[in-house]
Amino acid sequence: MDDLWYSEYHTENVRFSIRVTRQLHSEKSDYQRIAVYETPEFGRFLTLDGVMMLTERDEFIYHEMITHIPMAVNPDIRRVLVIGAGDGGVLRELAKYDSVEEIDLVEIDRRVIEVCREFLPQTACGFDNPKVRVLIGDGIRHVRRVDNRYDLIIVDSTDPTGPGEVLFTKEFYGSCLHALTEHGIMVNQHESPFYAADAQTMQRTHRRIAQTFPLARVYQAHIPTYPSGHWLFGFASKGLHPLRDFQPALWEALGIRTKYYTPHLHRGAFYLPKYVEDMLADNE
Ligand code: SAM
Repeated sequence: MDDLWYSEYHTENVRFSIRVTRQLHSEKSDYQRIAVYETPEFGRFLTLDGVMMLTERDEFIYHEMITHIPMAVNPDIRRVLVIGAGDGGVLRELAKYDSVEEIDLVEIDRRVIEVCREFLPQTACGFDNPKVRVLIGDGIRHVRRVDNRYDLIIVDSTDPTGPGEVLFTKEFYGSCLHALTEHGIMVNQHESPFYAADAQTMQRTHRRIAQTFPLARVYQAHIPTYPSGHWLFGFASKGLHPLRDFQPALWEALGIRTKYYTPHLHRGAFYLPKYVEDMLADNE
């Protein structure tokens, strides 16, 4: 086996490498470099501007946790806005809910959707859902234009660099608050508490969300291919609480199949390590 490795710097002193059998695709879109690799350990994976986005082997963790946590808190979610998520994984998880009537997906880069449809059917199958309306554009411009429309907003963005930067601003969160209905929930990809740069981004993000939403909580999952493996998500709402308003019996009655999310794990995900609690408390 020739010695080909994909390496990503998690800090300037820490490198994460995966053996690659071959590169399946690489192109420069109007927004970013899009690449897909084949590997013996993680199956296929997608990178944007050299940053790992998802792998076939562990994407279920991220996509289940960003979707089923809010869906288990509010059983009346009908209209959903998904921002980013060009790989389709969030759409695949949302398709498990008959109660969801409309899903708007706003992805800035059409080529991400097209590349994932060609090389990553495991997540891109989410686009086959007839309830989904795909809008190509900037998520911040979309939320500025809507008011009191969505019961759930899922911000499945890249990191706060390049096109993703605007999705971590107070202006964006303010627009999301207004785009949500009375029992609205926003969940977002919330970076990580471990390495300094990620922890700084996480704290700044939490501060902006906590200054904007009446309720702002953070939960965690363990994602092997993300920096440090300890990854966080934001849960913000106009009042619904992720544990007090959680309805496990209602969710279990739906009979939804998952590989990572469970009602027990739902509670556990919000019990964070002390150093993470302290970081969040310093920014509330
Ligand atoms: N689910 C994976 C993860 O865990 O990170 C991948 C997320 S998905 C590939 C991130 C998407 O956000 C990309 O397709 C990117 O083009 C899109 N994106 C970045 N900035 C955006 C913006 N301002 N508006 C809409 N989509 C954006």
